Amino acid sequence: MSSAVTEATARTREYAARMALSDAAAGTLSFLRTIPDSVACEECVAAYLAIDRYDVLKSIRELIVAGQVLCTYADCTICRERRLVVQTRAGRPRPFGK
Ligand SMILES: [Zn+2]
Repeated sequence: MSSAVTEATARTREYAARMALSDAAAGTLSFLRTIPDSVACEECVAAYLAIDRYDVLKSIRELIVAGQVLCTYADCTICRERRLVVQTRAGRPRPFGK
């Protein structure tokens, strides 16, 4: 398969995955992609999206199931606290623990 076809297939898959997401999940994913390192804790995501923390946790669970994000222990880009954070899979070139 040529790289153009591979890229198109990947884009189609991403589009399909995003279409199936709830508004909160799509908003969480968009927010994570706009910030450096694509890492934030659920409280900062909730504050940014102006939605309930519980709804953010539900959207994170949805994104994990969709394979879009993962949870790890790191510094939140926004509040700088070291805690459990959500991170997009695309933005994870660094080794664990950095
Ligand atoms: Zn935070």
